[in-house]
Amino acid sequence: MDKPRVRFAPSPTGYLHIGSARTALFNWLWARKTGGTFVLRIEDTDQGRSTEASTKVIIDSLHWLGLDWDEGPEVGGPHGPYFQMQRLDLYAEYANRLVSEGRAYRCYATREEIEALRQKLPEKKRDGFVYPHLWRDKTEADWIPGAPYVIRFKTPLTGTTEFVDRVYGAIKTQNSLIDDFVIIRSDGVPLYNFGAVVDDLTMGITLVARGSDHIINTPKQILMYQALGAAVPEYAHMPMMLNPDGSKISKRSSGQHGVDVAIEDYRLRGWVPDAVLNLVARFGWSAGDQELFTRAELVEKFDWAQCGSVDGRFNVKKALWISGEHLKRLTDEDFAARVHPFLAGAGVTVAADDPRLLPAARTVKTRSARLIDAAEAMAFYFRDEITLDPAAVEKFLTPEAKANLRAMADVLTGVADFSDAGIGAAIEAWLAERGFDIKTVAQPARVALTGRTASPGLYEVIAVLGREVSVRRLRAAAGE
Ligand code: GLU
Repeated sequence: MDKPRVRFAPSPTGYLHIGSARTALFNWLWARKTGGTFVLRIEDTDQGRSTEASTKVIIDSLHWLGLDWDEGPEVGGPHGPYFQMQRLDLYAEYANRLVSEGRAYRCYATREEIEALRQKLPEKKRDGFVYPHLWRDKTEADWIPGAPYVIRFKTPLTGTTEFVDRVYGAIKTQNSLIDDFVIIRSDGVPLYNFGAVVDDLTMGITLVARGSDHIINTPKQILMYQALGAAVPEYAHMPMMLNPDGSKISKRSSGQHGVDVAIEDYRLRGWVPDAVLNLVARFGWSAGDQELFTRAELVEKFDWAQCGSVDGRFNVKKALWISGEHLKRLTDEDFAARVHPFLAGAGVTVAADDPRLLPAARTVKTRSARLIDAAEAMAFYFRDEITLDPAAVEKFLTPEAKANLRAMADVLTGVADFSDAGIGAAIEAWLAERGFDIKTVAQPARVALTGRTASPGLYEVIAVLGREVSVRRLRAAAGE
């Protein structure tokens, strides 16, 4: 069998939505798994909403995710151009062919004329109004020279259109429920359904995989393939990705649910690309109980057979866990390099070659959900002055604790081996001598050294801060 040709066909009217990223991913996975071809096509026919800036954001996001395409913008290919607005001649050619073969027709009815007919209906029936075939049976002799017209598809009046979706199974639609929809507007620009069919056909797409919101379009598209005498591709629709409460994921809902919408936001909040792919892959696809996947495992294990049709709800806690697990898998060096750009956002300026960067990063690597959280958690290492959390000061920096902090500073001054182990040994010897438990001093010291009550391990913190800074912060908190 020929290798599959799949495509991702975003409309450049905004950012790369997390749900669209999942569509791109599944197509990419299928191409990479089967040795097929992944095509990127930009569906920019909605001229009021499509922008170059949006095309750029979408392409940048795909690059960031590492979802490379074999044909499309930037790389070209044998079926270009890959922007629909550069393919208008092709749509005209196909539309004219349908017209000359009696499978589509020119409709000169104006919008006003059609609206007037709709208004004549009782109010209750107006929503269900369908175009009443005004020009369906006219001939070329009726055409009005020089007047604007649209081209409508001549939908069969009887019969059914059926297809077997790779995820949803058999789907059957009565043709009588489908109107004579417009395929080309009066300005020569195709409507989505027609543009997509002409492109999928001429680009040799064998499997159309997209969100289940497009199931409604599929019968129309199949009818057009049939009218053109072309082989119908296979279809795989994917269930929706939803907010925790089942609502649509949108920019507007994002603040409310804590669900990031744009791939750009995941990058800015310090997700690594593989974690985002892992997150979206689990919406609509599974491999047993496995939750964590590397990119290579996704390619290896992905199959339409394991795709389900149940819409998935976002679980923010689980999403953050997935992100954190992917951070843990990075080498310390890679993690440090990736967290570095986020430190400025946490309010500290740190040179890329600062010798404290790697040891500091190491202490937060396994404790952070995202790089933005890691940067926030390690900023205290790099501040000249730290601000102590007032509630923690009130609770932990009692006069007795302050005396202990002074004593601890003296111990640290004398430690010969200033490593985690050396520091630990010295502090534990001192505690044993005093008959104290580590608990007596750990929280006050943590507050003194980091400003907070939650931080990496105390000895690690002291080792990374170094003797001078540690002693200074302990003494400062003790009021010296
Ligand atoms: N441009 C369409 C969208 O972004 C593509 C749908 C399809 O894949 O056919 O929804």
